[in-house]
Amino acid sequence: MKILVPVKRVIDYNVKPRVKADGTGVDLANVKMSMNPFDEIAVEEAIRIKEAGKAEEIVAVSVGPAKAQDTLRTALAMGADRAILIETDAEVEPLAVAKILKAIVAEENPGLVILGKQAIDDDSNQTGQMLAALLGRPQGTFASKVEIDGDHVAVTREVDGGLETVKLALPAIVTTDLRLNEPRYASLPNIMKAKKKQLDVKTAADYGVDIAPRLKTLKVSEPPVRVAGIKVADVDGLVAKLKELGVA
Ligand code: AMP
Repeated sequence: MKILVPVKRVIDYNVKPRVKADGTGVDLANVKMSMNPFDEIAVEEAIRIKEAGKAEEIVAVSVGPAKAQDTLRTALAMGADRAILIETDAEVEPLAVAKILKAIVAEENPGLVILGKQAIDDDSNQTGQMLAALLGRPQGTFASKVEIDGDHVAVTREVDGGLETVKLALPAIVTTDLRLNEPRYASLPNIMKAKKKQLDVKTAADYGVDIAPRLKTLKVSEPPVRVAGIKVADVDGLVAKLKELGVA
């Protein structure tokens, strides 16, 4: 079985995003970029499935700028076998990414596609679901456990107040939740080896996909600044203060 793992280059999760002065988006100039954390979990899970002898090849794919090659090299250093970059400087919406992935699935025929549940930049949480719908394939989203069993995969999902396990016929789509695994760090020898692994560069046009945006961002704004707290002497003081502020 082959596993396809889409990985997105996003603003590093440790960086506090700054909104552009004109409110058109987040300022990415000189900002550290990394692999989307949920996609690291997806790469790790694919590697564990391969290590368990249940997959032979892991293909990492990214839609993004030339710099997204770094993200793909990280996936290769972790243990993916080869990579495909669909190069574009445009912002690509989840539906367009899903259409590109659909075309790659037609070419590569993976038994499993493991995506992150969401990209931490746009928080869309759409790509995996859209891909499953476009392909007409079963999906197990927000996975906290993935077990391959012959021609099926059991996916344990985190739902309100508990866990739900679904059994999907392969080929299938899985999206990762935070507790699925702890991704490994790439070792220095593996980072060196990854430089020699195959990385093909293509465009959306190669797959006949129109990536023109369907959505328009009206405004991006910073969250409101938190106001400082105040101390009151006792309960009477608290009630008086709440009345004064008009919240009681
Ligand atoms: P989203 O629907 O944007 O929240 O993204 C969900 C998942 O889809 C991500 O965790 C990635 O696995 C995948 N994905 C989204 N955008 C891209 C992209 N530009 N390149 C590769 N994978 C992507």
